[in-house]
Amino acid sequence: MGFLKRISSFWRGEAQVEETDVLWLVVECDKCNETIRVRINKKTDLQNEFLRPGEAGCAFTLKKEVLGKRCSNLMEVCLKFDPRCNIISKRLRTEG
Ligand SMILES: [Zn+2]
Repeated sequence: MGFLKRISSFWRGEAQVEETDVLWLVVECDKCNETIRVRINKKTDLQNEFLRPGEAGCAFTLKKEVLGKRCSNLMEVCLKFDPRCNIISKRLRTEG
């Protein structure tokens, strides 16, 4: 019984960890002003830039294409993160 209890609390813990790794971005389309919420999972969506330990600067990057429902304006979000996964740079590119 004790073993099962440990397992279930382990799984609850996992779920909480996953939730804190989720980042919501709000992107506004400059053509139709639609606001689009983009879900980013810091664990799986970020690309590791392999900084050396103690090195400052951009540790992770993320590129994500965002397409709204109202028009065909394809946007690309480029984010840079420090080693603690805080956003240090945001860029939004739109086509055309
Ligand atoms: Zn749009």
